[in-house]
Amino acid sequence: DTVKPMNFLQQLIKADLDAGKHAKVVTRFPPEPNGYLHIGHAKSICLNFGLAEEFGGECNLRFDDTNPAKEEQQYIDAIKEDVTWLGYRWAGDVRYASSYFDTLYEWAIHLIQSGHAYVCDLSPDEAREYRGTLKHTGKNSPYRERSAEENQALFEKMKAGEFDEGACVLRAKIDMANGNINMRDPILYRIRKQLHHQTGDKWCIYPNYDFAHGQEDAIEGVTHSICTLEFADHRPLYNWLIEHLPVPSQPKQYEFGRLNLNYTVTSKRKLKQLVDEEHVDGWDDPRMPTIAGYRRRGYTPGALRKFCEMIGVSKSDGVVDVAMLEHAIRDDLDKNAPRAMCVLRPLKVILTNYPEDKTELLNAPGHPQRDDLPARTLPFGREIFIDEDDFREEANKKYKRLVIGKRVRLRSAYIIEADKAVKNEAGEIIAVEARIIENTVGNDPEDGIKAKGVIQWVAAHDHATFEVRLYDRLFNDPSPDSGDKNFLDFINPESLTVLPSCVGEKGLLNAASTAAYQFEREGYFCRDSHAETLVFNRTISLRDSWNG
Ligand code: ATP
Ligand code: MG
Ligand code: MG
Repeated sequence: DTVKPMNFLQQLIKADLDAGKHAKVVTRFPPEPNGYLHIGHAKSICLNFGLAEEFGGECNLRFDDTNPAKEEQQYIDAIKEDVTWLGYRWAGDVRYASSYFDTLYEWAIHLIQSGHAYVCDLSPDEAREYRGTLKHTGKNSPYRERSAEENQALFEKMKAGEFDEGACVLRAKIDMANGNINMRDPILYRIRKQLHHQTGDKWCIYPNYDFAHGQEDAIEGVTHSICTLEFADHRPLYNWLIEHLPVPSQPKQYEFGRLNLNYTVTSKRKLKQLVDEEHVDGWDDPRMPTIAGYRRRGYTPGALRKFCEMIGVSKSDGVVDVAMLEHAIRDDLDKNAPRAMCVLRPLKVILTNYPEDKTELLNAPGHPQRDDLPARTLPFGREIFIDEDDFREEANKKYKRLVIGKRVRLRSAYIIEADKAVKNEAGEIIAVEARIIENTVGNDPEDGIKAKGVIQWVAAHDHATFEVRLYDRLFNDPSPDSGDKNFLDFINPESLTVLPSCVGEKGLLNAASTAAYQFEREGYFCRDSHAETLVFNRTISLRDSWNG
């Protein structure tokens, strides 16, 4: 085993611990409960919880619930389930930004009293104009020189609900000429007459992200506050607030490159649109790049974690090939999924030389390399099903399946030879007549004429019947939401194919929810966790397109 070099965050934490800066490392994962978590969040989860685990520290799960209009309890529940399913445990109870609202309010008063915050009555349009642009410095608000007493009285009135939404905001008094627009007297509090899922009607003013995040980190003793690159411009404000408030600890913010995947959209807003407009069947539709969608699709926590480890951590944004994620799950399932036989498009084969009243039980391994997985017994009889695609009346030599006058091996069973296609009046093939070659279970034929290929089959007299859903990528464009593109224009119309009457080994009747199988020659499948009847979802096909 080669030791992987440490990424920049591991190096930084190690250096801080070596220098005795912290007794232990504390990180946090801070989702806003305004949607389900997606694969990008998985990266952040693996990073924050992973670093805490690696360095013997702790990671908090904190809901960044400062914008009640878009947040819901169902998202809180889903996020907790997803983090747990990925295999991580947060330190202590779940935390909420909203449980710090009292302290944040006191700290707002502190800033007002020290002359570092003021109530501003500019309208949003006016405020935008005063803020300036990257090229043009901003100008001071006419309300900037209000006295501390006046500001405090106004802020108390804001809290008491005496102003309408949008009438005024609380702003930090920093520097309207600052090159960083985030430092041009940023908004700290706004009025939102909105019920909150945690605090009910207690508040009608809410802190914004910048006024909440760093202070919460400080309250929780977070040592390394790790976020995505778009927050780099907010770091000066993060530090300014920590410096100007009586916070109990001194957290530091670090940024890493967010995960983008080709053929995939990773924005909660856009994923919500897919759900709301019913392009998919809910947040956990197996085509969705949500953690809940991957779970239902048959991805394992191990594969998602492995993928996050493979992509590593960098200081710049990049686009990762979705084939790498597919490789991670394929690799996991190849090693771990028991094998089973399933026929997606059944075609009956009548074995004319096999006695009508005879059946037998054949043996097959649970997994070619894994003795610990239970072996299977396969009932065999005069009539079996094979896949329509595995029979042709005539074919060239490249086609190594069943052809009239030719032989094929039935996996873990006999070699058979086809004699005749049975057709209906419309000329469609409805069955095949064939013969078994005697003594060929586990043996070559005595006449020396070998079979070229191997196909899967299922006994007609004893099997399970079920639906199979074949999933393909949800988008047929590598960058469905780049530039001016509307991601909805690139939804793959063939992202779902339903095969209603498949047959498989009887053992599949007992498949546990989301339990994975390799259906031999077809791919990896798992039992759907929602359907009331027996349904299998294709997790991923067998063919690997990632050459890493
Ligand atoms: P979205 O843009 O999809 O709404 P968000 O960043 O607003 O995502 P949050 O709930 O605020 O969603 O995110 C929680 C944490 O997950 C944040 O620390 C954020 O930086 C991180 N995160 C979100 N998307 C990604 C991504 N694509 N790659 C890595 N980390 C991400
Ligand atoms: Mg966010
Ligand atoms: Mg967001």
